[in-house]
Amino acid sequence: MTAETPHTTTTLDPRLLAILVCPKCKGALTHRSAEQALDCPACKLRYAIRDGIPVMLIDEAAPLP
Ligand SMILES: [Zn+2]
Repeated sequence: MTAETPHTTTTLDPRLLAILVCPKCKGALTHRSAEQALDCPACKLRYAIRDGIPVMLIDEAAPLP
């Protein structure tokens, strides 16, 4: 599935963001609104946000640059 949507002003629900943790280490995530991603500094992983929905899957996570 190619979900390359053009840059929309996706505002992630703050309540959702508050309960989201890294599925790997259960640590807090850093919201990167510019990259549409959630970063886990501890695991050095980046979880994508697709259409405003965070993809909280370790298998789908990309290593932090
Ligand atoms: Zn983590």
